[in-house]
Amino acid sequence: MGMSKELQNASIHYSMQTKPQRVLISGASIAGPTLAYWLSKYGFDVTVVERSAALRLGGQNIDVNGPARKIIRLMGLEEAVRAANTTEIGTQFVDADNNAEAAFSKDDPTGLTQELEILRGDLVSILYEASRTKANYRFDDYITGLTQDADGVGVAFNSGTTERFDLVISADGIRSKTRKLMVGDEPTFHYLGLCSAYLTIPKGPTDTNWARWYTADDRRVILLRPDNKGTTRASFNFLLPEDEYAKLTSADYRPLLKEKIQNAGWEAPRLAREFDTNDDIYFDGVGQIKAPRWSNGRLALTGDAAYCPAPVSGKGTTLAMVGAYVLAGELATHTNYQDAFASYEQRLRPYVESVQKLPPGVPWIVYPKSKFGVFVLNKAFAVAASDTVKKLMGLFTKKDDKHAEEEAEFDLPAYDV
Ligand SMILES: Cc1cc2nc3c(=O)[nH]c(=O)nc-3n(C[C@H](O)[C@H](O)[C@H](O)COP(=O)(O)OP(=O)(O)OC[C@H]3O[C@@H](n4cnc5c(N)ncnc54)[C@H](O)[C@@H]3O)c2cc1C
Repeated sequence: MGMSKELQNASIHYSMQTKPQRVLISGASIAGPTLAYWLSKYGFDVTVVERSAALRLGGQNIDVNGPARKIIRLMGLEEAVRAANTTEIGTQFVDADNNAEAAFSKDDPTGLTQELEILRGDLVSILYEASRTKANYRFDDYITGLTQDADGVGVAFNSGTTERFDLVISADGIRSKTRKLMVGDEPTFHYLGLCSAYLTIPKGPTDTNWARWYTADDRRVILLRPDNKGTTRASFNFLLPEDEYAKLTSADYRPLLKEKIQNAGWEAPRLAREFDTNDDIYFDGVGQIKAPRWSNGRLALTGDAAYCPAPVSGKGTTLAMVGAYVLAGELATHTNYQDAFASYEQRLRPYVESVQKLPPGVPWIVYPKSKFGVFVLNKAFAVAASDTVKKLMGLFTKKDDKHAEEEAEFDLPAYDV
């Protein structure tokens, strides 16, 4: 039976007014699945495309703090995150003989260990599990072309297929290639003069539930952290001038790591052996992404692809989750995507800028050149960890006042959808 003229007109009018429905997200790590969860909850039809054949579960302990903790609660995932706790009880700053010069327990307001301490891979799995029945995930594929017009976006995939979506969001990390298809060369990578290698190694006799931070001379730091899998998460970090970093190719990183760790002392030989044999080393220069705009028509950026703050900020995961939550909320509460993207950027940019503004001297201040510099730094950590200073810090920081901390950092909008 045919539709009446009035009904046809009403239905055309309605379809012109409705919000975009089909959203494609590129990247299934932290930002992608968080965005997929919220958009699906708000009624969008969501597809996530991930370049890897499976979730990438590597990486170290990451930060779920401030407003991200609130998002975890809103998603009903706090228990799952707590259950995946890494078991780390705090951080010791050790000397070459493995004596703890200073220790910050998990309860210290200034400590490295977070209340919701979790491995990056565990958080990725939890976010994926929370969204996988709501969104359509496709692995082992990626976007090769984007053409937008008044009605939508034509997407070409590496697998050879093409498809149309209303909106496409890049959530595919600091090295995103989709970003270039969206906003060209506008975003820039700001190298911070630091290189980091992350790897998982067998647990050794000296490993405990403390993270152990060892500062070597020649601007090098080794960090060994416990995990909840019976292994140890190691990272080796060193300063490298920009001109040397710029010349590096992927073939150079193993020889470079082996050269840089020589004569570092402490447990350096243990890592040096791993640099020969470990086949899952994540190595990269540490830097920030700065993008003058986060959207172009029907295309938008979020997470590290848009505004990576660098791991030294301690806010990479938090910003990725907050950005995804805000982007979804703005799309759900605006009739047109242009206003939604503008509001997303207006709300989030001041917070991103404050996080990207690193304290003076970060990161080089904790990378002394000489052995004397290492001695002085360890003494400074010892003073900071002393009872007197902790009491003083306690006057200014209330780690147990979570709601105040979450709101002071970023007042997460409540989207009434
Ligand atoms: C393997 C890995 C290990 C990490 N380890 C640490 C760590 O130890 N400490 C730390 O602070 N941070 C680490 N990070 C970075 C951290 O996850 C991010 O800084 C932060 O959580 C923001 O997440 P994101 O979702 O924006 O980006 P990312 O976490 O970088 O995720 C991007 C996702 O997009 C996928 N992808 C990339 N290109 C494409 C493409 N063209 N098409 C489709 N998908 C694509 C990637 O495979 C990845 O799954 C790691 C990232 C990865 C990918």
